[in-house]
Amino acid sequence: MVAVPLVPVTADKLSAVAQERPLSRLADTCKSFASGPLLHLFQCAFVVLLAQRERCEVSLLLAANHALLNRYPQNMFASRIEQARAQMANVGVDVLLLSVGADLPYLTGYEAMPLERLTMLVVPSDGPAELIIPGLEAPRVDAHDDVFTLVPWGETDDPIQLAIDRIGSRTSVAIGEKTWATFLVQLVARLDGVTFRDAGDVMTPLRSVKDAAEIANLRSAAEAVDRIAARLQSGQIDLVGRTEAQVSAELGRQIVAEGHHRVNFAIVAAGENASSPHHEPGERVIQPNEVVLCDFGGTMINDGNVGCSDITRCVYTGEPPAEFAELYDVLFAAQEASVAAATVGTPAQEVDRAGRAVIDDAGYGEYFIHRTGHGIGVEAHEHPYIVEGNADPLAVGHAFSVEPGIYVPGKWGARLEDIVVAAAGGPDPLNRVDHHLAVIS
Ligand code: ZN
Ligand code: ZN
Repeated sequence: MVAVPLVPVTADKLSAVAQERPLSRLADTCKSFASGPLLHLFQCAFVVLLAQRERCEVSLLLAANHALLNRYPQNMFASRIEQARAQMANVGVDVLLLSVGADLPYLTGYEAMPLERLTMLVVPSDGPAELIIPGLEAPRVDAHDDVFTLVPWGETDDPIQLAIDRIGSRTSVAIGEKTWATFLVQLVARLDGVTFRDAGDVMTPLRSVKDAAEIANLRSAAEAVDRIAARLQSGQIDLVGRTEAQVSAELGRQIVAEGHHRVNFAIVAAGENASSPHHEPGERVIQPNEVVLCDFGGTMINDGNVGCSDITRCVYTGEPPAEFAELYDVLFAAQEASVAAATVGTPAQEVDRAGRAVIDDAGYGEYFIHRTGHGIGVEAHEHPYIVEGNADPLAVGHAFSVEPGIYVPGKWGARLEDIVVAAAGGPDPLNRVDHHLAVIS
């Protein structure tokens, strides 16, 4: 027996591997599908055929939209299911139902395709977990007999009934927040005396506190985007004369080249467009002597842990006018103040207040139009949210963005963003690349 190299199977890698091995026809078929579920299925098929040809064992984990191979600690998912059961007991939930969304791969390593067909993990408080899944999707699931059993259903079966059978007489049900509404509507119509609540009550406490392996993965992702930001700041990524969309595409390529498994976003906003926090990069050509705001990140997977990166840095394509330099100095001080405030035990809203006070005092308060940050982990945006009204204290292992911004409509804007972990020794910013306004000529 030999081991298959455990590498992410992207379309590029697929073609590289195929050139070494006589499976090129299948690889060509894969490549003819640029993206989406079909590429995913063909990549899986390719991996399985490769494994059979080499008569070797593979450990298949399909935790992202693209087929990936990863090793993970054998008991990781079993341990997470047990933590979920403990939290179900804490909050009085009899059965947990998870469908599409990030909770399912967090507990099982399997990410359901967002199909109209029902996929649902049923975790009773007092019985074995079962994954109801369309039969045609079942081959994508890596078996974890110690974690859950598969319940494949055929095209003419009634999958809602399969879920109802497993819910049984239990009455307190928590359902994943991203489950299609149609499934919840059908369950509500066909179940009597059942109370539904958001599965966030069970899952948020688990997912928002990261263990050492999850933090290590987030740090790797942060270091990867730091390297890209450094290239932006040193002028190694051309800006002037290119469109925002072209620069965005290049950032996306670099996000993947730096080890991410997928790109989540790559905002490039030049000049007046930088006053729109979530600007969609377009055909606007970047000019000399203007700000270029870049906010980008992707999803990285290591040892079965899924984690996102997210960073914002600003570059000025020339010497910035004093008015902009002053605005940026205020932003810099605000971000620093919020990071410094992010100590264990501090209510999340105090982190928001610390930076907002700096911006308010400098007279830019009306231009800071969003919360200071969001948690980050399996998803790019998750709990805890760093916002006024969230008085929950930061805990060891919370990971979140600190990203104040100042946006003057129609004129310009700036944002400065790091991912920070609340650690026993104080705030631990994962992004370390220069925080000053980069000036390139
Ligand atoms: Zn961002
Ligand atoms: Zn962010």
